[in-house]
Amino acid sequence: MLDLDHPQSRHVFAASQQLDLILDYLKRITYVGSKERLALLEIIRPCFAALRWLQAQRFAGESRIAAGIDELEQAAEQLARLRDSRAEWLGGELPTDCPVCRQPLTTYGVYEPRPGLKVPKERWCSPCLEVAMPALQRVQSSHEGFGTDAI
Ligand SMILES: [Zn+2]
Repeated sequence: MLDLDHPQSRHVFAASQQLDLILDYLKRITYVGSKERLALLEIIRPCFAALRWLQAQRFAGESRIAAGIDELEQAAEQLARLRDSRAEWLGGELPTDCPVCRQPLTTYGVYEPRPGLKVPKERWCSPCLEVAMPALQRVQSSHEGFGTDAI
């Protein structure tokens, strides 16, 4: 558990918020078409700038963290460009299959946007998300990253 009284904890928490946002968007990127993938990637670009600021200003310029952030941004880019920019959204409003590898999407949670319509809170393609997970886990780790996995 993170001790918020410890001065470094707030910086770990700040990194964690950015990484949560990145993961949320990486999941979204896995089930949309190519044009949307690149648009979603642009939305999380500032997160990488924020992480680099934290690394430089609050984590003593730790070079292993910097290398991890670069790796994660490249992985996000690779995920967004899968299928050579020709991925097409499948399944209308609520896609059920991955537009790249055609696997059924993983779903999590349930919400009801209107009465009687229950849809998953989150969805993503697990095999495709694996493109970015090793880099994300590296940046989260205590020995090579921000240590957000300790929260
Ligand atoms: Zn896939």
